[in-house]
Amino acid sequence: MITRRKLLKNLSALPIVGGLIGTGVLSANTMNTAPKKKPSSDLFKELGVTPVINANVTMTFLSGSLMKPEVLEAINSTAHDFANMYELQDKIGAKMAEMLHCEAAMVTSGAACAMVLGTAAAITGMDEKKRKLLPNLPGPRPEVIMQKSHRYVFDQAITTTGAVIVEVEGPDEMQQAMNNNTVMTLFFNAAGSSSISHEEFVAISKRNNIPSFIDAAADVPPVENLFKFQKMGFDLVTFSGGKMIRGPQSAGLLFGKKDLIEAAKLNHSPHEAPIGRPMKVNKEEMFGMYVALKEYLETDHEAEWQEWLDRIEYIKSRVESLSSVKGKTHIHPGPANAFPSMLLSWDQNIVKTTPREVYETLKNGTPSIVSGLRRDGESQMLVIGVVLLKSEQVSIVAERLYEILKQATKE
Ligand SMILES: *Cc1c(COP(=O)(O)O)cnc(C)c1O
Repeated sequence: MITRRKLLKNLSALPIVGGLIGTGVLSANTMNTAPKKKPSSDLFKELGVTPVINANVTMTFLSGSLMKPEVLEAINSTAHDFANMYELQDKIGAKMAEMLHCEAAMVTSGAACAMVLGTAAAITGMDEKKRKLLPNLPGPRPEVIMQKSHRYVFDQAITTTGAVIVEVEGPDEMQQAMNNNTVMTLFFNAAGSSSISHEEFVAISKRNNIPSFIDAAADVPPVENLFKFQKMGFDLVTFSGGKMIRGPQSAGLLFGKKDLIEAAKLNHSPHEAPIGRPMKVNKEEMFGMYVALKEYLETDHEAEWQEWLDRIEYIKSRVESLSSVKGKTHIHPGPANAFPSMLLSWDQNIVKTTPREVYETLKNGTPSIVSGLRRDGESQMLVIGVVLLKSEQVSIVAERLYEILKQATKE
């Protein structure tokens, strides 16, 4: 074992570095990236953290999604060498832009980060002085136009830049709201209602020469949505990396017009000071996000959809063997979380428990299973999500449900 001090001493004692080769000094490899020993212990156990089966939808508090094996492989295989982060972001961006049929793309630390960077880009352009001053530009605050019905929790990412949100209703108000301080328009794709259609929104933005941004963070499947909005004419589009695309949870995509993406990059790490610096994406996650997107685009989405339906049938047939229990396949209309799940109900005179109680029992049991609840008029229904289950978890969920409902039938 050669200590660092010894190594340095040996280095200074030797006349040329070449002299080290074959001495065993260089092979001491102080930067070895392989683990000293395979981590034998279960880190969940070591820390007392409960692993959870997600029988619901992607949720940030439940760690988003599970990365595909190919993504983990990308992370592991690229962790062993340094890379120039400017080069990496540029090269990955160029490749992703090709894949997404748009001018430019970049990896962000999530869709919320993409919203900060997109707004910052719209405010600063290539202006270095403005970049340095964000979020405290002198003069009137930059304005971002949104539909009143589109206001949502994530729009705080917009005001993080110092911009203010101007609410409008209908195309006429949107046109009237345009002024010299307007820097961007934001469309929330999964909003419950819209007073301005996608097409009108893009047209009014273009007419006023103002970049339009659409947040479609959770809006795949269908995979076509990854292409839809740039084609419609939106200048910036974001999707989360850590939802159904199954990339790293702290990664996301921002793509669209080249000048805006270049400006967004200038507002991001590895640059030292700008507003996006605290939203750093590491090298491994960039590679991971790239591979996740590639894999997602190559997925057989029809087969995957059928597998989800089959999972529901499997669980349904198990629990429907109990008197009065009824499972129903429900396809969420979207745009967010647009995939099948199972709605479960029963006659509470026969199965003497409520959906809320079953939800709690599943969650507090071993293994811990997080399902969902859905209001159905006066009553509630249990929602069993299947898209985030590992294949071996389908029968575990079915058995736990069967046990719990059977127990309640006897009581
Ligand atoms: C999840 C979500 C976000 C935030 O995405 P992150 O990738 O977690 O930063 C933003 N907007 C919408 C509509 C979302 O669903």
